Amino acid sequence: MQALGMLGGMSWESTATYYKWLNEGVRDSLGGLHSAPILLHSVDFAGIAALQKAGEWDEAGEQLADAARGLERAGAGALLLATNTMHKVAGAIESAVNIPLLHIGEAVGEALQQRGIAKAALLGTRFTMQEDFYKRRLTECFGIETMLPTLEAMSEIDRVIFAELCQGEFNQPAREFYLGVLEQLRDQGAEAAILGCTEIGLLLEGVDSPLPLIDSTHEHVAMGLKWLLDKF
Ligand code: GLU
Repeated sequence: MQALGMLGGMSWESTATYYKWLNEGVRDSLGGLHSAPILLHSVDFAGIAALQKAGEWDEAGEQLADAARGLERAGAGALLLATNTMHKVAGAIESAVNIPLLHIGEAVGEALQQRGIAKAALLGTRFTMQEDFYKRRLTECFGIETMLPTLEAMSEIDRVIFAELCQGEFNQPAREFYLGVLEQLRDQGAEAAILGCTEIGLLLEGVDSPLPLIDSTHEHVAMGLKWLLDKF
């Protein structure tokens, strides 16, 4: 049985959720002692985050491509890149290996389409919200229009991701701020909100949200789980 390769650690807070949910999904489907065959390459996120900040995306892509090659050599049959932001370098990873990259944007786009959502708010890092690589896939492949918070709100959302969520801090003021942003976007016509950063679901777990939430972690895990279960 083939293993699922996972490029994680960006941050490990959400990679831990991927690991748990993949295992729970396999157990729930197959029962008994079944668990998920996973090969994990977990990076030191400080180095990757520094490359993001410096705009050194080619170098970041090369590092993740190397890690992907290692997972392929170790026997992975497909890859999950457990972060939205680093899908900016999905092309570098895809061209380094001969196994499929299960793309987070596809997982999110399919989830939105299945729910009949045409206009969705997008929360994530400043790279995911402001650059084109993520939104374009949703628009071109799924016909989804994305709506963004104000510039000021985007800057605070991004700050919270790196200064709090990726460091394991899930605080009430940040939760209230995110919910306030969602309320504004609902009032502007958003039908749902994409949690386009894999740690946001950890902050908003169990809250009463003004908008239906499409959690990229949840949808991406479901895609990985489907791949795994097809191989059993
Ligand atoms: N995990 C986050 C994401 O899904 C942010 C960390 C990163 O920049 O990779 O985008």
